[in-house]
Amino acid sequence: QNQSYDVVVIGAGGAGFAAAVEAKSKGANVVLLEKMPTVGGNSLISGAEMNVAGSWVQKNLNINDDTPERFAEDTLKGGDFKGDPEIVKVMTVNALPTAEWLKNTVGVQFEDDNVFQFGGHSRKRALIPHGHTGTEFITKFSALADKMGIPVITNMKAEELIKDKDGRVVGVKAVSAGKDYTFNAKGGVVLATGGFGANAEMVKKYNPSIDERFKTTDAPGTTGEALYMAERAGGQLVNMGYIQTYPICDPISGVIELIADARFDGAILVNQEGKRFVEELERRDVISKAILDQPGAYAYVLWNDNIGKISNTVKIHDTEYDAFTKQGIMHTADTLKEAAEFFKIDPAALQATVDRVNKFAKDGKDLDFNHRAGLKDLSTGKYYIIKAVPSTHHTMGGLKINTKAEVLDANGKPIPGLFAAGEVTGTTHGTNRLGGNAYTDIMVFGRIAGAGAAAQAK
Ligand code: ADP
Repeated sequence: QNQSYDVVVIGAGGAGFAAAVEAKSKGANVVLLEKMPTVGGNSLISGAEMNVAGSWVQKNLNINDDTPERFAEDTLKGGDFKGDPEIVKVMTVNALPTAEWLKNTVGVQFEDDNVFQFGGHSRKRALIPHGHTGTEFITKFSALADKMGIPVITNMKAEELIKDKDGRVVGVKAVSAGKDYTFNAKGGVVLATGGFGANAEMVKKYNPSIDERFKTTDAPGTTGEALYMAERAGGQLVNMGYIQTYPICDPISGVIELIADARFDGAILVNQEGKRFVEELERRDVISKAILDQPGAYAYVLWNDNIGKISNTVKIHDTEYDAFTKQGIMHTADTLKEAAEFFKIDPAALQATVDRVNKFAKDGKDLDFNHRAGLKDLSTGKYYIIKAVPSTHHTMGGLKINTKAEVLDANGKPIPGLFAAGEVTGTTHGTNRLGGNAYTDIMVFGRIAGAGAAAQAK
């Protein structure tokens, strides 16, 4: 089984779709390979918010002082300055045109009256897709790929890159249902295979502190063998020990509690003693660590209708609401006392915490943890409370690329014909990826990789 294309894209998540569509629109003959039975990867199950400075939604909300430079500064700082400033610059400068492309060409619909402010960002800048998940992106991308005539082959696992005698990557060997296939690539191969957060062994190998206590938020295909495949072809792996845990996940399955995104609108975090212990908009690593330091190594997210009405997470994530309520890890109560009693928290202690929050909300200053967006009033019900633990979420490390999304070898030289984009790369986020930056990264660099590979097919 031998097939030839201009561009072979490996991995049908957000980065892979962006690369494939971009390459096709530049006139290349493209194929998209996916090892799992279904497309989407982590991109599908993500909340899929996407940071953009200077967006039309920010304008609608009168946020007029955001710039790519500010966005870059937040991103670099959030990753302890271990991200590559050139890569971050490309991401932040291209965020707006890429979001416009997603909206106008791909047909992704974003809410036009709300943006999230994730931890570490100095402005509210994360666009929110309809439905608050990656389904909006992946559905639209799948439809467009179909319309453009891009074959998307599922159950097809790439296993080895093929190089010619000059060291150029000219294709990939893949396997489907025990049969071998070869996909030749005239212009180039784009690796868009995601990270390795669902590979517990690999996570522990690169970061021994993330051990058996952690479940994962990731899609089952996020197992990272493609990183070794690229390494065998000469690709340089960097920052592999930087692995992000997401602080607010289901203690039973490990998945993210998107319903608890009410945190971005003012929900507070308390421990079993009913006390706040960290600023709720702190970085994910800081909050994760703070939770592990609490009694029982878990926390609760608490909000009320006053906060809930802002982005309506209970309604939008109604399947989560039903499932978590049934599991007994989430509870809805008319009074704070009832919310406390459900989880055996001392009601008086929780009341004292909430009274303090209400006072800080009124005064506009959180004297305990300096909540950067300002606390909100929690004096009236209904109340929503959910138990949460950190899980392995995003692997910041991966292949070293340059601003053209070319994969670099151990000497920092591009490997001809090999491109990479998305979570498989290791250069953007440094020690810690800020919320909403994955989608910006995968979309911007997915397009660059696709265009680059298409250009070399000429
Ligand atoms: P990103 O956010 O970077 O696009 P995703 O996790 O969304 O990453 O997508 C990566 C996709 O790549 C997943 O659907 C995953 O199953 C797929 N994948 C990973 N390794 C391979 C491989 N060796 N061959 C084909 N597909 C792969």
